[in-house]
Parts: sequence; structure tokens; C-alpha cells
Amino acid sequence: MSSFDDLLVVQEHDTRIDQLRHRREHLDELEVAAGIRAELATLDGRRASVGSELADIRGREQRLEDEAATVQAKAADVHGRLYDGSVVAHRELEDLQEDHRLLTARQGQLEEQAIELMEQAEPLAAALAELDAARAVLQGRLDEVEQVIAAAWAEIDTEIGTEEAGRSAASAAIDPAVLSDYTSLRRRLGGIGAARLSGARCEGCHLEIPPAELDEVRRAPSDATVFCPQCSRILVR
Ligand SMILES: [Zn+2]
Repeated sequence: MSSFDDLLVVQEHDTRIDQLRHRREHLDELEVAAGIRAELATLDGRRASVGSELADIRGREQRLEDEAATVQAKAADVHGRLYDGSVVAHRELEDLQEDHRLLTARQGQLEEQAIELMEQAEPLAAALAELDAARAVLQGRLDEVEQVIAAAWAEIDTEIGTEEAGRSAASAAIDPAVLSDYTSLRRRLGGIGAARLSGARCEGCHLEIPPAELDEVRRAPSDATVFCPQCSRILVR
């Protein structure tokens, strides 16, 4: 077995590694996962917009409640002064009563507005809860698909490791210059850099080599690197 036969073994491993890498990058589950991620992104966009609308309403509601509490405290203060005996003048008492009435009315208004906002928030909170639930379902599906991908990749990577070890063993005896030619041919010619000469046919391009050139190929010393005159791959005789 010549080092050129070893080159064909290297070629077999490389082809197998190419196939495994292709399979690794084109798992059906990768497309499924990408689809789910796109759905999640759309959903997150909606969630963000509903969430910010809800936060805005709740902020306004909180400010109204705070204001109502302040007004209520003021009303309580006025109420206290009305009945603690500190004010006796009739006119002043009437003013305090009017203040108390206005403050209580204002408190009522503020509380009503806060309730309106609370009612506006309800459907948004429900929508957000629905979106959260939908998100959880999608995330669960994504987790499952990602597990399948991880398992498939682990299996493929083990196979790639085995192929690489085989390739490394087979390439040990090959002249580095030949390997380098092979590598650049492989890169240029769709992954096949070396092919068996089968009768008069190159198994790389599947073309018959014309008799004169075939004769030249056959007469070349066995340790010489010969190339297919049609496709320029290294011919293994
Ligand atoms: Zn060829």
C-alpha cells in the first residue's frame, strides 16, 4: 500500500467529516428552534408593549392614590380643628367646614379616577398573563428541541472525533507536500482532492483519460504525484 492509498483513506475520512459537519448544521430541529425563537421574539415584543402600557397606567393610578391619601390627611386635619375647640369664631368654623367639604369631594374624585385606571389595567393584566403563559409553553418547546439538538450534536461530535483520529493516523505517512496539494485541491474542488484511477477513468470527475495522457500517468514513477488531466485531482494509481 503506497502513501497514495493512505491519501485515499484520508479522503474518505474527510468526506465523512464533511458529511457529519453538514448534518450537524442542517438538523431539522435547528429550523424548528429558529422558528420558535422567532415566535418568542414576536411575543416578547407584544409583552413589552402591553407591559409598558400597564406600568404607565399603574403609575398614574398610584399617583392618584397618593394624592387622594394626602387630601384625606388634610381633610382629617381640618376635621380635627373643627371639633377640637380651638376654633370658636362662627365665620372661621364655616370656612373650615367648606374646606372639609371641598377636600372630601376632591378625595372622592381622585379615588374615582384611580378606580377607572384600575379598570383599564385589568384587561391589560389579563393579556399580559396570557402572553406569559404562551411564552412559557414556547420556552418549554424550545428547551425540548434544544435538548434534542444537543444530543444529536454530541453523537455527531463523537463520530467526527473518531473520523479525525482515523484521518490523523492515515495521514502520518503521507508526504506533507502531497497533503498540502490535496488540501488545496479539496478546497477548490468541492471536497474531493484525490481520486482512484479506475481503468482509464478518474473516479474524481468520472471521465476517461485520453490514451496518450493515460500512458504518461501510468509511466510516472510510483512515488510521483500525478494529477488527473481533466479535473486536476491527485490520481491514486
Ligand atoms: Zn478527474
